[in-house]
Amino acid sequence: MKLDNITLLDRLLAQGKIALQPSIFLKQSPSPLPENWDFERVEGMMLGLAIGDALGYPTEAELPVTRQRLHGEIRDYLPNQYAGGYPRGVPSDDTQMAFWTLEQLLEDGALKPGCLAYKFAQYPIFGMGSTIRDFLRSYKDQGRTWEESGQSSAGNGALMRIAPVLIPHLRRPSPALWADAALASMITHNDRDSNACCIAFIQILWECLRLNELPEPTWWVDAFVAAAGELEGNTLYSSRIPELPYQGPLWQFVDREVRQALKQNLSTLEACQRWHSGAYLLETMPCVLYILARHGDNPEEAIIRAVNDTKDNDTIAAIVGAAVGALHGRTGLPARWISGLLGRTREDDDWRIFELIESAKQTFWRSDPPLTPENIQAVLKFLPHFEQPDFSPGVWVTKRGSLPYFDYTSEVLDFIKSLAGNGFIQPFDWMNWQEGKQLVNDSALLKNVNLQTLRKLLAAHVRADRFSEGHLAAMFESGHITMILKRMAEIFYPKVNMSG
Ligand SMILES: [Mg+2]
Repeated sequence: MKLDNITLLDRLLAQGKIALQPSIFLKQSPSPLPENWDFERVEGMMLGLAIGDALGYPTEAELPVTRQRLHGEIRDYLPNQYAGGYPRGVPSDDTQMAFWTLEQLLEDGALKPGCLAYKFAQYPIFGMGSTIRDFLRSYKDQGRTWEESGQSSAGNGALMRIAPVLIPHLRRPSPALWADAALASMITHNDRDSNACCIAFIQILWECLRLNELPEPTWWVDAFVAAAGELEGNTLYSSRIPELPYQGPLWQFVDREVRQALKQNLSTLEACQRWHSGAYLLETMPCVLYILARHGDNPEEAIIRAVNDTKDNDTIAAIVGAAVGALHGRTGLPARWISGLLGRTREDDDWRIFELIESAKQTFWRSDPPLTPENIQAVLKFLPHFEQPDFSPGVWVTKRGSLPYFDYTSEVLDFIKSLAGNGFIQPFDWMNWQEGKQLVNDSALLKNVNLQTLRKLLAAHVRADRFSEGHLAAMFESGHITMILKRMAEIFYPKVNMSG
């Protein structure tokens, strides 16, 4: 039997095979995206990740003071030996593994952890961290399964590549999003901090995609602490810095230190020096959140600060880049950084990342095909019939030994067929569609809605009828369906209605 990822996560939790606190957080559904949402937010998220990585990679692991002395402030790609000496954006492990994740999602239509582990082991990884090396030794050289090969490491190597796991969920957000984040994380880093940080960061990214206004500086810490606090459990992670001794859960460290630094108005360099900025999540996570809190309103400055003011700068800038990209979209990122990317995920597949982003849009987003005038007319031709004073959608049938059901008239059944045949019934998260509920409760609001909303309303009522017997009949009897069709006619035949 094929397991879905929620069931798989539940099994791994029950068997103690995943380092994660079982929590009701994992059962919550993420909020749906707003109706006018644009995929360019996801483009921004993935490009921001690639840009941060490429800007940081040439000076990865240099101390900020050394880097400053050698290069001044880095604001653009440095000349790169892998780009013929030209200043171009060359990827490292962060971009590679994030886009290979997207590639796996596209190939299989969903996260398949076994397939993703396999993919990670197929091609050379540039600038690989030690945990990934240990994962490959276990999985590839020693032949262990993907479930057994994740290392108990609180390094940032899973967090850096986690962003794309949310892409298959854009249309239909569900708790499976958290399961995907946890499973994708544990492939290489099966550790409480890594798994909790990956899920908490996926939630932050999801909210960034949804937000229409910039969040307050403290929002980043609030959002992280609320999620990670539930998922991390009672852990004992230790600071590596003698001047800042700490032992306890990461979320508590972040809660205390990032808030304090904000209060003291430290520069990003001062703050990141205080808690250090290496590949250890107890350092990476406060750096990411502090940079976002200080500069989340300015994607260029946020990425520049991450590149210049931290030690593990390619990864920290990739994570910051994903967040500001999700918040500001592709158009919010400097065009020179996007055009300077080689777009490589392997040695010689230049431009690949742009292809993958476009495929993701076609596969996981793709707006509904537009309705033609013929589609609309085919549905509107039912309106006169429904407007007749003696119209009834059908009758309730009660038979002994079975639940009562609603027997629709042949006209109503033809109408439903016509909706389906003319492209009105498109998948969307109708159960959580708040605007739709308001429109049912207050039909006067229908006067202002557009054709797309009417289409969604009709789809929602047809769908709801499958779950709640007689729903559509009730919508007919209240006059709601007729009002939807009348509004559609008003939009479709504006002149006729103006003359009376
Ligand atoms: Mg890297």
